[in-house]
Amino acid sequence: MKNELLLEFARRLMCHPGIACHEHAVREEVETICREHRLDYRRDTFGNVLVTLKTAPQLRPVVLSAHMDHPGFEILKQARGGDWQARFRGGVPENYFVPGTRVRLMPDNIGARLGKRLSAARKAYLLESARSGAPEPAFAVWDLPAFEARNKRIYGRACDDLIGVAAILAVMAELRKKKARVNLLGAITRAEEVGFLGALALAAKRTLPGNALVISLETSRELPGSTMGLGVILRTGDKASIFDSDATRYLAEVAAETQKRNQAFQFQRALMSGGTCEATAYQEYGYQSAAVCVALGNYHNCGTDNRIEAEFVNVHDASSMVCLLVNAVRRMGEFSRLVARLPERLQKLLAEARDCLPERNRAR
Ligand SMILES: [Zn+2]
Repeated sequence: MKNELLLEFARRLMCHPGIACHEHAVREEVETICREHRLDYRRDTFGNVLVTLKTAPQLRPVVLSAHMDHPGFEILKQARGGDWQARFRGGVPENYFVPGTRVRLMPDNIGARLGKRLSAARKAYLLESARSGAPEPAFAVWDLPAFEARNKRIYGRACDDLIGVAAILAVMAELRKKKARVNLLGAITRAEEVGFLGALALAAKRTLPGNALVISLETSRELPGSTMGLGVILRTGDKASIFDSDATRYLAEVAAETQKRNQAFQFQRALMSGGTCEATAYQEYGYQSAAVCVALGNYHNCGTDNRIEAEFVNVHDASSMVCLLVNAVRRMGEFSRLVARLPERLQKLLAEARDCLPERNRAR
């Protein structure tokens, strides 16, 4: 399956580089897409974008959350000539910082190369550019193709988590177009790669309705138990938390029904312990939280042989994520009924157990 709107949004968002606290270009594209698709949005006091589609306010609200930033370099100060001191923000192992690796200085998009390490503790490096006298950059990103769709995959510098952001916007645009009766909020956040700061600030401020079901959307390192190409992953937990059992079961029930009606739709269920996602932040602040993700190749641009490479995801997986969430948001009024199916099945089994296993005074 292939969702054209998702592909379009992914291409448009991934063209813009962004790192923690420097997500401005991505955010402007998010807001442009919202305007084009007549989705209401506003920025909260922390700079997160909150998108709303509230056509059935009596329904319990659903929040879909994904982040705009990606690991990259924050410029500290000028060194000699066209060189800059920078610190790396985000999780990339030390062995990938090979001197000579190409980077781009932003926002002016000037080519530079990774120089020597200045401080291991601060993850500080020299970035060397032949262009002296160029304007002071704000940040730098790896010099990688921004977006390529080939072999049923999306390749690019930052699939994490612009695929998640594109998926939220695709879900909202589709529901808006179909005039669906929903109560939906998109939380498109900042600074996740340095400790989900945007989501944490949003959760702590309690801007989101307290009774909301919060679902985190991510791309997550492919681990045993999850397979790229086999559909959206119901993420039962992350490195830090196990997510809400009822909320995950709700998604599983909706996914099973979606599959019955649409053979192309696929889903899997796994604990993705490769990283911590925003659901952990929301859950700690009392929100009933669940998570979905798609398997990610070259997680945080870590390719083979210590090489920095484009990340990639499978188009079918990402499209399955949109399909699942469209249905989950639409059916929110049936949450209790769908979650109650398991205890009902267990009650029937218990009746069978009483027939098959008559109780005796003493176990034999
Ligand atoms: Zn991420």
